[in-house]
Amino acid sequence: MTEILQASQPKGKQIIVPKAVPITVAYGDGIGPEIMVATLRILKEAGASIDIEEIEIGEKVYMKGNSAGIAKEAWDSLRRTKIFLKAPITTPQGGGFKSLNVTTRKVLGLYANVRPCTSYHPFVKTKHPVMDVVIIRENEEDLYAGIEHQQTDEVIQCIKLISRPGTEKIVRYAFEFAKAYNRRKVTCFTKDNIMKMTDGLFHKVFDEIGAEYPEIEKEHWIVDIGAAKLADSPELFDVIVMPNLYGDILSDVAAQITGSVGLAGSANIGEEFAMFEAIHGSAPRMGGMNRANPSGLLLGAVQMLVHINQTDVAKRVHNAWLRTIEEGSHTYDIFKEGVSKVSLGTQEFANAVIDNLGKKPELLKPVQYSGGKANFRIELKPQVPAKRELVGVDVFVHNKDRNADRLASSINGSVSARLNLQMITNRGTKVWPNGFPETFCTDHWRCRFTTGEMDAIAYDDVIGLTKQLNEHGFDIIKTENLYRMNGQLSFSAGQGQ
Ligand code: NAD
Repeated sequence: MTEILQASQPKGKQIIVPKAVPITVAYGDGIGPEIMVATLRILKEAGASIDIEEIEIGEKVYMKGNSAGIAKEAWDSLRRTKIFLKAPITTPQGGGFKSLNVTTRKVLGLYANVRPCTSYHPFVKTKHPVMDVVIIRENEEDLYAGIEHQQTDEVIQCIKLISRPGTEKIVRYAFEFAKAYNRRKVTCFTKDNIMKMTDGLFHKVFDEIGAEYPEIEKEHWIVDIGAAKLADSPELFDVIVMPNLYGDILSDVAAQITGSVGLAGSANIGEEFAMFEAIHGSAPRMGGMNRANPSGLLLGAVQMLVHINQTDVAKRVHNAWLRTIEEGSHTYDIFKEGVSKVSLGTQEFANAVIDNLGKKPELLKPVQYSGGKANFRIELKPQVPAKRELVGVDVFVHNKDRNADRLASSINGSVSARLNLQMITNRGTKVWPNGFPETFCTDHWRCRFTTGEMDAIAYDDVIGLTKQLNEHGFDIIKTENLYRMNGQLSFSAGQGQ
């Protein structure tokens, strides 16, 4: 179905209505359809010039046996329009169903998730009256690469992938965003005191790219204390950039402490495509009750209007919404006796916003958007390939006997290759040589082999070693090559090594 929202001149000030921009819209599940109807009504009355292609995604599509929750025709629409306004969907419980949100972000290359979290004190009750934080979350990699394996009876792994190009893109996006929107500071959260290589790369790239923006203040926090500070004193922060998992968790925390998760929208930006949504889910138990707050999706749609250069309309909608919040016209989730004036349903709240089109807030700060600022292209730094030498191998074995010394002597009695057993770890902790008897061991062992002097070896040496281990009955789960890159050993030591 196609609908062009271009008919009427907007209420209030006359504006030039640009050519209708094709966008793909999905009404979603649960509260999705009602908050989408409310949002599109407001956009239409505000003069948004959009040409809507409607697609079906989510629960109904999953139930037809499509494990991705999205049909081929829907992808075709997205390829045509490249802009997606999406209401939340319900991911059915149980195995086999893939998260449509994660798939869409990754397949369309939507690497930057931008979540502004602002408090509206004194009109929305919050413990944090001064809060205006934008969380910029890496959206494609980290533990969300979704590479998981059960390796032994006792141990399952999930691989955390952090890439240099992925990190460069998100970090540069954060600095460009700060520059475009006159933000004073960019903070980076990582856990590089523990994950020295993966989070270490994120921090290093943040320092490298940050140096190109001398006018912007920069800081780095370890994510645990950073999260505590964010929850306690959000006024200390401005723009925060972080890897995927931390960003997922902390953007919900940040939205919630402004007053309600129902208040925050989010933009998912890629080089070619962009998707706009509320940060919350489909709240299925509330579906069809006309109670849900449409503000999250509406503010996501405002980000979309800025993205498609309809900044005048974005400003009208956002200012009318601020005015409505200021007047105390609230949905139930932010309604507080003594603060709010009237409790409204979803569509009645939309009507109140429409009535305020053309007005600005009186006490809250009105928004300003100027054309084209949100769309910047990110160039990657050219990389010189590293000089890479193989110096050893970690062989992971399954062994039910929880004794490291017995495993080591059995390996040493079985192999006579160029590579020697240097260390055994269990869940990352060194347990041989000189392990602690107190360390609890599972059935999953990492056995590190090198020449001892870290000489360069050939992959044939690894094949020879694993062949011998296999012939002696060791249950090999996987191997991981150990490299020296540009003269630096490029793998972590065992804990306690
Ligand atoms: P949820 O965000 O849907 O709801 C949690 C609670 O938050 C609700 O019970 C409600 O009290 C409140 N809430 C959420 N949105 C609100 C709004 N607009 N107005 C007022 N109150 C609101 O989270 P959930 O219950 O964990 O997930 C429900 C479903 O949504 C699941 O199937 C989940 O997979 C899906 N989900 C989808 C998305 C998405 O499509 N982007 C995101 C998160 C969760």
